[in-house]
Amino acid sequence: MNYLEQKVAPRREERLGSCIEFGGTVGEIHKQFCSGCLKNKRRAFSQGTICQLLPATAILTSLQDCVVIVHGAVGCGGAVHALGASVRLGQFNSGDKNPKGALWLSTNLNENDVVSGGEEKLKRTIVEADKRYRPSAIIVLSTCVPGIIGDDIDGVADALKEQVSATLLPIHCEGFKTKIMATAYDAIFHSFLRNMMDGKDETEFRVYDNEIAVTAEKLRRRRLVNLLNISSMTGPDQKELMRLLSKLGLEVNMLPCDAHPDAFRLAPFAALSIGVCPTHDDYFMTYLEQKFGVPFVGGQMPIGIENTSRWLRQIAVKLGLTDAAERIIKSETDELNQALKPLLSHLKGKRVMLSAGEMRTLATAVLLQELGMEILAVRPYHYDEFGGTEIEKLETINPNIRINVATAQPFEAVNILYRTKPDLYVGHNCDNIWAAKCGVSILPIYGTNSIYCGYAGAYDVARRLKRHLKNTSFNEHLAKHVRQPYKEIWYSENPFKYILGGE
Ligand code: SF4
Repeated sequence: MNYLEQKVAPRREERLGSCIEFGGTVGEIHKQFCSGCLKNKRRAFSQGTICQLLPATAILTSLQDCVVIVHGAVGCGGAVHALGASVRLGQFNSGDKNPKGALWLSTNLNENDVVSGGEEKLKRTIVEADKRYRPSAIIVLSTCVPGIIGDDIDGVADALKEQVSATLLPIHCEGFKTKIMATAYDAIFHSFLRNMMDGKDETEFRVYDNEIAVTAEKLRRRRLVNLLNISSMTGPDQKELMRLLSKLGLEVNMLPCDAHPDAFRLAPFAALSIGVCPTHDDYFMTYLEQKFGVPFVGGQMPIGIENTSRWLRQIAVKLGLTDAAERIIKSETDELNQALKPLLSHLKGKRVMLSAGEMRTLATAVLLQELGMEILAVRPYHYDEFGGTEIEKLETINPNIRINVATAQPFEAVNILYRTKPDLYVGHNCDNIWAAKCGVSILPIYGTNSIYCGYAGAYDVARRLKRHLKNTSFNEHLAKHVRQPYKEIWYSENPFKYILGGE
């Protein structure tokens, strides 16, 4: 089905059968997903969730030369304040020595607008944004209120496109529409593909090659590749992947995060698109191939030693560079294994629990297992077909590894922590706090200045783990002095007792 013919991208629940409710083992989830049994699951009690606006704003506010208009109640843009530091860091890493942070406006819809409609306010905001900032693109993010009252953001963009100089990108991102926040990635790429990327061959690109204009055909011949970065990829991660790709002689057009809109206009002329996380990039790369004939490789994250080697091999096969790739893999892994030797004895047998986005949790679990650690439990925020590759690897090691698919739901996490008593919890900070209060050592699964990807990432994760596990007394003391908000009886209950249904 060609979703691009529709104004709105599909929900992940329908497109991929994604779910956010499961409790069991990796062996069970693999079987149940394949037989369709994860459909229609639900929670009888839910402690919270994450609106798709959060990942959407994380990507969109990082774009260069763009204004983001959050069309809705003013609170819908609240999460952008928390993104300020990482947006500025991204701008700094992209060469802006005086980063200004996120540039976003809100249409600040109120009760009157709910009755009379918000389109006029949106029109005025777009015109004002164009006049005041002269951006390359203006992104309109539709939230719950305009979704419910029926504001036609595509119609507004159409009506204004001759009046403003910026390219207008309406994105349907209503939080109520989906339980899978990763739907936001499809919504973003959907709008860029429909409204910005025409793939006209006469285009010349001045953003590339030190401001010298080059033609599309010349770019293709020069082994230009699209590298699909993600918002939870750090500056050092990007450098590591660029380092490996440049060893293969490739030139990189990186997008979407921290990119200029011209990187999207350039993308149809690349020789290959390279994904780093299928949860983020499968929609974009699939349509880039269908619409413009750009082949792609993806399906896994370059986190972990074997995963990084497999990622390089996939790229090399597509571009006829397998001999060069094997040489690079050999020299990189020899050096890495040598460097890891003094660290591994400190990590061997340590018991770990992890949580984060689907691919990141599972790929990091595979890395930690490569470092000799024992995986007790994984908590991906959602699960769908993309998780299958990594789940199979974990299943081979131990089919009884616990898996709890949950966006937030710390009550389930704390219950599992009490039962399994891991030595270490590796997750995002919003999850790590619960483990810390249980007395468990923590390692952020993503930190803006650390490195996780590629061979350098594997080494650095091991180095940081050794340091974290050397002295665990801080969190042990913390647990003695904080109270969890749960009654004692909850710890003897089945952690998954509120997960119901399934076909
Ligand atoms: S759920 Fe709706 S109202 Fe709440 S932040 Fe998301 S878009 Fe706004």
